[in-house]
Amino acid sequence: MEPQVAIIGAGPCGLMAAEHLAKAGLRVTVYDRMASPARKFLIAGRGGLNLTHSEPLQTFLTRYGEAADWLAPAIHAFPPDALRAWCASLGEPTFVGSSGRVFPQQMKAVQLLRAWLKRLESLGVQYAPRHSWQGWQQGALHFTNVHGQDVLVRPHATLLALGGASWPRLGSDGGWVLIMQAAGVQVASLRPANMGMQVEWSEHMRTRFAGTPLKPLAVTHAGVRRQGEAILTAQGIEGGVIYALSAALRRAIETSGSAEVLLDLRPDMSLSDMTKKLSRPRGNRSLGGFLRACGYSPLAISLLYECVPAAQLAHATPAELAQHFKALPLTLSGICGLERAISSAGGIMRSELNEQWMLRALPGTFAAGEMLDWEAPTGGYLLQACFSTAIAAAHSIQDYVHNQY
Ligand SMILES: Cc1cc2nc3c(=O)[nH]c(=O)nc-3n(C[C@H](O)[C@H](O)[C@H](O)COP(=O)(O)OP(=O)(O)OC[C@H]3O[C@@H](n4cnc5c(N)ncnc54)[C@H](O)[C@@H]3O)c2cc1C
Repeated sequence: MEPQVAIIGAGPCGLMAAEHLAKAGLRVTVYDRMASPARKFLIAGRGGLNLTHSEPLQTFLTRYGEAADWLAPAIHAFPPDALRAWCASLGEPTFVGSSGRVFPQQMKAVQLLRAWLKRLESLGVQYAPRHSWQGWQQGALHFTNVHGQDVLVRPHATLLALGGASWPRLGSDGGWVLIMQAAGVQVASLRPANMGMQVEWSEHMRTRFAGTPLKPLAVTHAGVRRQGEAILTAQGIEGGVIYALSAALRRAIETSGSAEVLLDLRPDMSLSDMTKKLSRPRGNRSLGGFLRACGYSPLAISLLYECVPAAQLAHATPAELAQHFKALPLTLSGICGLERAISSAGGIMRSELNEQWMLRALPGTFAAGEMLDWEAPTGGYLLQACFSTAIAAAHSIQDYVHNQY
């Protein structure tokens, strides 16, 4: 039997909408091009599934920047506490980590997903794997299945939950952009978000330090300072503290071709304490030997040589050396690609949706999740917005279907 609601995309957004619509008594089928659902959700849980954040809701909303007032009604209606309660209802209570981030007790997504899929099955949600959505044909949704056959579906309403374009091998490759544009829907181009940055490291840095963590580390860009961790890569630098600044860094690189950051390699130590430490007699030691004796790591010392001209270092006073370690200028020459970005910026523009999350150009077709034009840093803000917009869209779909028939 034809579904009343077709949901395309079995990520956290599509599955959450499916749960709500099935609970409301609607016949729902979830289509996905992959063989199994929620591949990105599972990867997201690999290093600890950061579901949401415990900070006050007003602060929480500011993380969405310009999109905050757009997403606010959906997040108010399904806030972080509701998400935590939902997790608990699946047998996975959550806890707040030291940074205020919220995780399931098991840390991973796998148990949560298993319990969730069982619930969806018991609610009668149908799942159609290996169905790749191609657009519309004769007014019907057009999929190609695993055998290359065309499948046409005519639901009463459709939810597009196709995700962004990061980690494309997990299923979300942004291929839907062309389908949307052909249907007259405006899409802001999909760009990497929460991604690594490129640095033109010397051969020495690349071969000796690729894969080495830098922690604790504080990074300042355009007067905004963030503290956390990073890791040097052969291409540049990545990790939480870089992701936290990635939207501003991307804009700077798009405008000027490169961006400057200042690295504080000892955020835990004041400038005056560091100056005091570096004021010990150097004796006849080389600068490198002296810094090693002062407790600086080989990576910190190499970064100093990499970022500050040798002539400036040769006669640097203790105060100047301390200043370098607290504000090492590093040039970022580009941004790393979508293949390894945590998320993508861009997507279906706000102007293209009405307040019910329905596409103005395509009555009966709704959209939610990461495929919409908002971005947020890591910290649980991505999944929270996907879940909240899913539920908001599901409520609208429920009304839409009931009003039609
Ligand atoms: C390494 C990594 C770690 C992350 N960690 C976190 C974290 O800890 N906390 C957090 O908040 N966020 C995290 N994220 C981001 C989070 O996983 C995403 O924001 C979220 O999965 C987006 O949900 P979605 O349902 O909108 O889209 P997706 O999860 O991308 O799902 C979209 C689905 O649509 C399907 N699809 C796409 N095109 C088609 C088509 N043409 N036909 C059929 N099916 C199609 C895809 O196969 C996919 O299953 C992480 C992401 C990555 C890559």
